[in-house]
Amino acid sequence: MKYFANKLIAWHGKDGRQGLPWQSIRDSYAVWVSEIMLQQTQVATVLERYPRFMKRFPTVKKLAAAPLDDILAEWAGLGYYSRARNLHACAKQVMEEFGGQFPSDPLLLEQLKGIGRSTAGAIAAFAFHERAPILDANVKRILARLFGIEGAIQEKAVNDQLWLLAKKLLPKNAVDMPVYTQALMDFGATWCTSRKPVCLSDLKKCPFAKECQASLSDQVLLLPRKAVKAKSPEFDCDMLLLRHGDSVLLQKRPEKAIWGGLWSLPESAWRPKEKNSATPSEEDPIHLTTKDLFKLVLPDEKRATALKTCQPMERGPEIKHVFTHRRLWMQIWHVSSSDTVKFSSDNLKWIPLRQLGKYGLPQPIKLLLQGLSLARGDDLKN
Ligand code: SF4
Repeated sequence: MKYFANKLIAWHGKDGRQGLPWQSIRDSYAVWVSEIMLQQTQVATVLERYPRFMKRFPTVKKLAAAPLDDILAEWAGLGYYSRARNLHACAKQVMEEFGGQFPSDPLLLEQLKGIGRSTAGAIAAFAFHERAPILDANVKRILARLFGIEGAIQEKAVNDQLWLLAKKLLPKNAVDMPVYTQALMDFGATWCTSRKPVCLSDLKKCPFAKECQASLSDQVLLLPRKAVKAKSPEFDCDMLLLRHGDSVLLQKRPEKAIWGGLWSLPESAWRPKEKNSATPSEEDPIHLTTKDLFKLVLPDEKRATALKTCQPMERGPEIKHVFTHRRLWMQIWHVSSSDTVKFSSDNLKWIPLRQLGKYGLPQPIKLLLQGLSLARGDDLKN
């Protein structure tokens, strides 16, 4: 495809996104943070959260030295918390292995925690003007359509072919790499979109319409092809919302689990969801006793003591949360306690509702506790 890079850069000058706070920066730290934040988050949300994150952690050194809890708390609401944990681990790696400077070689960047091949390409292109390709989902879609690639993009051979094309299309001059890379991202996000590419409406004229194989063969919405996905498995679990006055008992989740390192409600093991089980209502009979629940969610020690201080439990809402590869139904159980039983584990802590903003919490749990906090008139920020 002739002059692809030039045409794309010209398109960006007219119709690309301009003035985003992470554009035109060459500080590799700032570029890296923006790339990670943009990975699974809408631009509008990043516009709000990126400046705040950079203000709190202005350098890789500060980020590496910060407690993980502070980073998770700042990341709260952005989802995909492994990104925040990887940011921390990567910042430490940059300090320890690269003297506080990100390397410019994409192959070295790829060895850092949480940086995949495409993100390495983007950082190298934006911060160091390296002729390194990117291949995120948007770029895969553009290339599969332009070149009429029929295979499923999850297949290795197809992926390899797309990487070769992405490399071949790069602009000749390294100095054009930042604008070219941004243009590619913008074109996929705003013009060659998954469901409403501009060539299917009369409002805008795609600069590649005459060469685009998908458009010429009337297959735009059929490409790229995706492998058929299995239905996500569904799980149930019970969660204990144990309160004493304005405090709630929270548990720090294991680092490697889902929502790793965040503070959540003590919960039971996840069980495969029973087929066709309906969402319970408040009137439904409760088949679980407070004692059974405590057995499921609390460690042995102090369980009996905790039980003595508690009122019988009440059924709270059942909350559904959709992860990338699974769905979880969380049954909340409200229990009031006349005391704050101390657990020896550092992972179980009584936290006043008004201080929750200092902790990283999974979004659905944060919303649930925010509701309680608002009902009490507390000001729960973040
Ligand atoms: S013609 Fe349509 S499908 Fe092809 S690149 Fe342009 S917007 Fe995308």
